[in-house]
Amino acid sequence: MKKIGVLTSGGDAPGMNAAIRAVVRKAIYHNVEVYGIKYGYQGLIDGNIEKMELGSVGDIIQRGGTKLYSARCEEFKTEEGQQKGIEQLKKHGIDGLVVIGGDGSFRGAKKLTEKGYPCIGVPGTIDNDIPGTDFTIGFDTALNTIIEAIDKIRDTATSHERTYVIEVMGRDAGDLALWAGLADGAETILVPEREENFDDVVQRLKRGHERGKKHSIILVAEGVGSGFEFGQRIKEATDLETRVTVLGHTQRGGSPTAADRVLASRLGAKAVDILLSGKAGRIVGIQNNQLVDHDIIEALNQKHSIDMEMYQLSQELSI
Ligand code: ADP
Repeated sequence: MKKIGVLTSGGDAPGMNAAIRAVVRKAIYHNVEVYGIKYGYQGLIDGNIEKMELGSVGDIIQRGGTKLYSARCEEFKTEEGQQKGIEQLKKHGIDGLVVIGGDGSFRGAKKLTEKGYPCIGVPGTIDNDIPGTDFTIGFDTALNTIIEAIDKIRDTATSHERTYVIEVMGRDAGDLALWAGLADGAETILVPEREENFDDVVQRLKRGHERGKKHSIILVAEGVGSGFEFGQRIKEATDLETRVTVLGHTQRGGSPTAADRVLASRLGAKAVDILLSGKAGRIVGIQNNQLVDHDIIEALNQKHSIDMEMYQLSQELSI
């Protein structure tokens, strides 16, 4: 393999830049040319491709977002779209691809692999919803952003003795809500992986209020539903003064934490190593602090789950 490409696709995540840097530098370290493809699969179809050098990825390890930009591309889900992408890869002489993104991006990578273009996936998403890795790039940074926001909300919640419903991201996964809830002592954490009895939530709130709690924090993962609707139901059922905050896209930005930079550097470099070793159609990940790789489809067919022991602990500690 003499030339490889790298792209970021789907929702962006802090740490993607550190992963791009690792891919570029590791490829050049192995005397392999590396090409950056801008705007994900859309850029691949459009031929938005340029050669990257050691200096192309200077001063980005600490930056959020992605230097290669990201996009969603419906056309790439079609045969014709994939064929157009392959034409571009041929034109540039690119032999293999590192795809940094989430599960949708990996399905696209699998399609290219099946058509003779070896791809390796690097999990970059704040949602932590990729099976086969304990952590995805961006999760730790998003978590810290949420914690900072909750700490601030907590101050004003105490001053005014209010109940706060805070909606966090995560798509269909509850990891961000669970980890943030445990880290910030939320009274209630609603995650899509576990059905919650609304009356239990209300009773818990009332009990807390009766024993003199100055405020309550309820974390709602977006996969459960709207924080505003839930807040309205709480208000009607408890008569407590209730406010709702939807943290939104602040969770997707910001300078990556040390943990995300280290993870991104390790996973990006690992992706290059296994691509050059001749493997294809794999996703890299980290399990028990060891770098691993799994077949893309086998990994994506597994159901994402949350750590129920952690959930139980969060409930026990916030009574
Ligand atoms: P994420 O990678 O964050 O899960 P998406 O699900 O939006 O984000 O996927 C990103 C892009 O990957 C899509 O816009 C599309 O170009 C490509 N993609 C998604 N699913 C497929 C598929 N089944 N086949 C080919 N390409 C796909």
